[in-house]
Order: sequence, then structure tokens, then C-alpha cells
Amino acid sequence: MTLRLPAFELLTPQTLEAAVAMLADPAATIIGGGTDLLPKMKRRQVTPPTVVSLRGITEMSGIHTDDEGRCVIGASTVLEQIAISTVVPPVLAAAARQVASPQIRNTATIGGNLCLDTRCNYIDMPELWRQASGHCLKDGGEVCWIAPKGNRCWAISSSDLVPVAIALDCSVRLASRDGDRVIPIEDLYQNDGIAHQTMSGDEILVELLVPRCDVRATYRKLRRRDSIDFPLVGVAAAARFDQTKTCTSARIIIGAVASAPLRATDAERLIVGRKLTEDVIEEAAQLAARPVRTQDNTDMGSRYRKWMTSVYVSRALRDLVVEDA
Ligand SMILES: Cc1cc2nc3c(=O)[nH]c(=O)nc-3n(C[C@H](O)[C@H](O)[C@H](O)COP(=O)(O)OP(=O)(O)OC[C@H]3O[C@@H](n4cnc5c(N)ncnc54)[C@H](O)[C@@H]3O)c2cc1C
Repeated sequence: MTLRLPAFELLTPQTLEAAVAMLADPAATIIGGGTDLLPKMKRRQVTPPTVVSLRGITEMSGIHTDDEGRCVIGASTVLEQIAISTVVPPVLAAAARQVASPQIRNTATIGGNLCLDTRCNYIDMPELWRQASGHCLKDGGEVCWIAPKGNRCWAISSSDLVPVAIALDCSVRLASRDGDRVIPIEDLYQNDGIAHQTMSGDEILVELLVPRCDVRATYRKLRRRDSIDFPLVGVAAAARFDQTKTCTSARIIIGAVASAPLRATDAERLIVGRKLTEDVIEEAAQLAARPVRTQDNTDMGSRYRKWMTSVYVSRALRDLVVEDA
């Protein structure tokens, strides 16, 4: 069955000010590369009458270092540019290389990745299928088919770059008619499949601000096919160590298991002040997976993904171990 796009008006502002003004219309939606939005429109998950493309805004594209030594990545920068960049922290480039396929990475933007809608086996079906099975909560219905007795949507956050950006303690600049604001990227997400982002509908994510990277960091991703798939579990970890190889700070972020990336704070607390021995890594991995409630809302079974959460946390922590010189 061919899925066709619904009719819509495409606006192509050339400046951020013009884009912000266009987004005053509550019916308008932002498009970056369109690799997620356009398939959703074809499936009639969203049917915005007006789509505002950020592509023509040159100031929103590219990577540079600011006066504070932060790496600033414009929201319209395509993932392939980040994947091959020698300026961004290597862990961010490595995560970008693991998104989708080369064709998609050459179109998809980092802004779109950081604002990616949540996904679920039910909502990501074509319209006729959803009509036949009954619309779910995220689709305007009254029930979440993943957990029909509950009253929330369990669609999952599936971005590869978000867990890494949180692990690196990045911030984002948001622009709207009320002006600019900069917030920690961690504050952009909340664990609800529908209201998964805290930014308002008329705000534009303008850039990602990556602090000077003095941490050891890694990203581990479970997916069915290494050539193209979304994460089924994604673990980003970042830590600092002193000269005795004792961990002095840590962040462990688990993606693709909930509607927002989850911070494994108990595991973080466990490893700070200790050396990353095998025993400590195993204990931290079990601790990190304990609060994770995977659902059958994506590929592979929920119990397997929960088990893999601890496996991938332990692999990520092993990546951080400081080897003997
Ligand atoms: C086959 C396939 C495989 C994929 N695999 C992966 C994967 O492995 N990992 C992964 O992370 N993603 C994956 N994706 C999802 C998607 O391609 C990427 O996340 C991509 O980075 C989205 O960027 P985009 O510019 O195309 O976003 P768009 O589709 O243009 O936008 C996505 C959402 O973000 C909003 N948005 C876009 N830019 C901004 C902005 N600057 N400010 C505010 N809101 C904005 C849009 O309104 C929309 O809701 C895959 C997609 C496909 C089709």
C-alpha cells in the first residue's frame, strides 16, 4: 500500500526571527530533515496544516567552538556532519554514526533527533490498521494498548543522541517570541509518551551546547540490525577518574526503555569513590536495571530488553575502565 502525504503548506523562513514568528500559529509544526515527521504524516499520526522548514536558516547549521570553549552544534546540522566531525566529543560522533543509515544521516538533523517523537508498535502503524484495532491514547483514543489498565502512554524515547548529550551534561538553546532560554538538556524530557518534552509548541531548539569534554565517555546500543535500526536499549556513560583510577563523578543514562531517558542515579552513586573493578561494574549494572520497566512496545521482548539493560550498562562501564599505561 502506498502511503501518501496529506496536503500541507510548507513555509521556508530564511531567518530564526521569521521562523519564530511563523510558529506563533499553533497549527504550525517544525520540520528539520523530515526523516521522522514525514513518515508520521504519511501514516496520519500527525497532520499539521502548516510545516515550517528550518533548512534555509544558515545560522542554525554548523559546528563551532564558543568563547567558553563549548562546542556549539546548530540544530539544523545533519547527523553525518556530526558523525565525521573531529570537533565534537568522539562519543557524540560515534552515537551519530549509529543512527539509522547513511542516507538518513545525510538528511536528518540533530535538532530533529533531540526532539524526536516517542515511538510504539501501535502508534507507528498506518491509519487503517489503527482504525481497525481502535485508536490508542497517543492517537486520540482512550486506552494505551500496551497497558490498558493504566492511564498513561508508554511510547518510548528512541533517540541515540539524547542519552549521550545528557551524559555529557549538555544544554540546549530554545527560541520563541518570548526570547531565548538555555536549559540543561536533561530538563527537556519527561517520562510520559505523549507529553514527553517540556518545551512549548512555539519554541525552536536552536543549538546544542556541549561543555568542554574532560570525561571518559561511551555509548552502547542494542538493535536488531547494525546497519539501520533504532535502539532497543541505549546506554551512555561518562565518568571522571583521579590518578588512582578512582571514579570521582559519573553519569549513566539509559535510553529506549521508557518515554524519557532514565538516569541510573543509584548506580552512579555506587561507582563514585570506587575503582571500576569487575565486582563494582556488575553490582552497578544490576542496580541500574532494577527500576527499568520495559514494555512490549517495540522490537524484542520486554524481559529480554530488561536483561540486556544490565548487560549493556556493564559493557558501557567496562569501556570506561582506565587501562594500565
Ligand atoms: C528507517 C529509520 C531508522 C531510524 N533509525 C534511527 C536510529 O537508529 N536512531 C535514532 O535516534 N533515530 C532514528 N531514526 C529517526 C530519525 O531519522 C532521526 O532521529 C533523525 O535525527 C530525526 O531528525 P530529522 O531532522 O529528520 O527530524 P524531523 O523528522 O524533521 O523532526 C522530528 C521531530 O522533531 C521536531 N523538530 C525538528 N527539528 C526541531 C527543532 N530544531 N526544534 C524543535 N523541534 C524540532 C519536529 O517537529 C518533529 O516532531 C530513524 C528513522 C528511520 C526512518
